[in-house]
Amino acid sequence: MVNPAEHTDTKNPTADRMPKLVCFDLDYTLWDCCIYNNLTPPIKRKGDAVNTLYDRHGTELAFYREVPDVLAELKKSSIHIAAASRTHAPDLAREALGLLLVPLEKGSSKIAKAITFFQTMEIYPGSKLRHFKSIHAKTGIPYSEMLFFDDESRNKEVEQLGVTMHLVRNGVDRSTFNKGVIEWRKRNGK
Ligand SMILES: [Mg+2]
Repeated sequence: MVNPAEHTDTKNPTADRMPKLVCFDLDYTLWDCCIYNNLTPPIKRKGDAVNTLYDRHGTELAFYREVPDVLAELKKSSIHIAAASRTHAPDLAREALGLLLVPLEKGSSKIAKAITFFQTMEIYPGSKLRHFKSIHAKTGIPYSEMLFFDDESRNKEVEQLGVTMHLVRNGVDRSTFNKGVIEWRKRNGK
């Protein structure tokens, strides 16, 4: 698991507790791009190229380098993966997730569409309070069991629901993910 064991208190038996649900924003959290502003349809994949798409003008879309491993490890641990985006191009965002290919496990040649990793997706403009209320309604998972990664501090408002949001700088990578987990554990007394 993406378990920052080296940072945890080994005397604490619950130190390796993980949230039941991890949710990711899309733009500048999972990929280095604003779908609405930077991409022009149609978007295409070259053959079975892993983690790379191109738009009409050849602009590339890809998850940040360590994102596929983080997603694969969450899936392996049966942690519910969600996406919450307020993009004004929701159809294009979904299409991109449906086209992007990522390894099923780290280093594996078995690949899957990125969209298959996301059990719940809330992709539409507006306050992310709405996105999280919908995620909660659909999954029944308590807000306190949700860890959220997003690059925009205004979306911290979801913390009033009890969600833990970790602010992302320069996209999600393993280190950022681990810091989020540690924050979630502290917040929830784990
Ligand atoms: Mg964003």
